Formats: sequence, C-alpha cells, structure tokens
Amino acid sequence: MTDRYAVIGHPIAHSKSPAIHAAFAAQTAQDLSYEALLAPLDGFAAAVAQFRAQGGRGMNITVPFKEEAFRMANRLTERAKLAQAVNTLSFEDGEIKGDNTDGVGLVRDLEQLGCQLAGARVLLLGAGGAVRGVVAPLLQTGVSRLFIANRTVERAEKLIGDFADFFAYEMPDTLAAGGWQEAADAPYDVVINATSASLSDEAPPLPAGLYAQGSLAYDMVYGRGLTAYLKQARDQGAARLADGLGMLVEQAAEAFALWRGVRPDTAAVRDTLRAALPPLV
Ligand code: NAP
Repeated sequence: MTDRYAVIGHPIAHSKSPAIHAAFAAQTAQDLSYEALLAPLDGFAAAVAQFRAQGGRGMNITVPFKEEAFRMANRLTERAKLAQAVNTLSFEDGEIKGDNTDGVGLVRDLEQLGCQLAGARVLLLGAGGAVRGVVAPLLQTGVSRLFIANRTVERAEKLIGDFADFFAYEMPDTLAAGGWQEAADAPYDVVINATSASLSDEAPPLPAGLYAQGSLAYDMVYGRGLTAYLKQARDQGAARLADGLGMLVEQAAEAFALWRGVRPDTAAVRDTLRAALPPLV
C-alpha cells in the first residue's frame, strides 16, 4: 500500500515540499504519496489527528505551526528539544515523534557551498523559530564565534540564555547576542539572514564592515532572486551570495531519510528547482 505523507502549514500553496519529496521517492523507488495540507490557524491539532486517522505516516510542519507541533509530540529528539520547535513528525508505534531537521539542513547546505564551519565566525540575523532550529547544529560544527543579532534585542538575549545552559561548559566564549550595531565587533566569515524581512523586500539596517575576505552572505528566504538583504551584502563587500533553497532541500532529505531509511541525492533535485527560480544576480 502507498504510504501517505504531507506538509502542513498556513499558507501552504507556495510549498515546494511535495515536488521535492516526489522527486526523492522517484529517485529511491519508494512507494509513497506526499501532499500539501492547509490547516486553519486554530485547527492544526485536528488536521494532524485526521491525517493520522486516515493512515498518514509522517508530516512536515511549516509556518506557523512548528511550536504547536513541538508541544504535540510525545517523543522528541535532542535537537527538537533544543530548538523547541518541530518540523518533522513521524507516526509510529502509536506515538507522535517530533524532530527538527532545519539545522542539519542549513549546515549541510553551507558545507556544500564550500564553507569551512569549524573555526568560522558566524553572524546570525533574527531570533525567531528558524534561528532556534539552527543554533545548536551550528555550535556543534565548532564555529569559533556565533553572534545573534535581532531587531528586538531582548529576544536574542533570551534565546542565547536558553542555549548557554546547554553549551556553557564546552563553549563559554562562543555565543553572544545583541542589536544590529553590536554585530559590528568583528568581521564574519558567514552571515545568515534568518529574519523574515526579505519577505517584505526589506534588509536589516546592518552596520558596514561585517564581511571578512571571502565571506558568504546567506539568506534563508528562497525563490525571490536577489533579496534586499543579499543586495545590501553584495554592496557591503560579501564575496559570495546564497539563498535558502539548498537548506530547504537538505532539511527535506533528512526528513525523508528518517521516514524511509534511505538518503536521497539532493544535488539533482536542488538543480531542477533552481532552474525554475529567478537568478541570484
Ligand atoms: P519568525 O519566527 O516569525 O521570526 C521572524 C524574525 O524576523 C524575528 O527575529 C523578527 O524580529 C525578524 N524580522 C521580521 N521582520 C523584520 C524586519 N522588517 N526587519 C528586521 N527583522 C525583522 O520566522 P522564522 O520561522 O524564524 O523564519 C524566518 C525566515 O526564515 C522566514 O523568511 C522563513 O521563510 C525562512 N526559513 C527558511 C527555511 C529554509 O528551509 N530555507 C527554513 C526555515 C525558515 P523581531 O524578533 O524583532 O520581531
């Protein structure tokens, strides 16, 4: 019997996850279907329960339900606990298992882009759910500095407080937080925009001098060509620019591997999606 999976969110029509998982399934000869489900803002739990009752095997969770999925799961991976957000649910053995594959997706994409993360100085812009998902995986690569800058400074400070408890013993000097201006302390090898400013074609008001020689500017948003942030980064001296399409494909591959026990090849899928998007120039 064909196994059923879905991505659930609000909105959801824009989601590329059905196309990505269909390509993975074809490539690995897995018998599965994968659909996009729109849940009402107050109807996430009911929509998940219905999908499960109909025999659904797993779901990806997108905006704005990742925190609700975290609370719903009755078994969580360590990385989901740290993120306090879940983007992948598996329905197995009568349980709802929650995981978060966003962070590993970002790290894999950065590595494929040629970033040497061990020892790198990284600036992370934003302090929302996406940042929560990527802090621990970035720290675990051995970055030498991870500065989290956010419009609402207290939110960034609260966030690093949560992670400092877990990482304090190993990395006392690595993690710091502040506002845009405080980010000017040091040049960075990698700057990651995880704010949603790009969705309204805005860039965070960043100070000059952030970009080290050979640095990468990365916008988690994808499909919008050169975003306001990437334009700003290019003008401020970033050597290389990337968007979040690779992260999207890599987090999907990690979920697929969890569900199916087989790891798909991401490069061909990413290249096919890329060809249909506006260029990053
Ligand atoms: P979120 O929880 O709503 O957080 C939004 C963040 O953006 C907050 O830090 C907020 O700052 C900041 N922000 C919003 N508007 C801003 C503006 N005009 N100027 C400066 N900062 C602004 O959202 P999220 O879930 O973290 O997602 C963030 C982005 O990452 C979204 O665009 C999402 O599409 C993208 N994303 C991509 C992937 C991928 O696979 N490529 C995965 C996850 C997320 P305040 O705290 O001050 O409000």
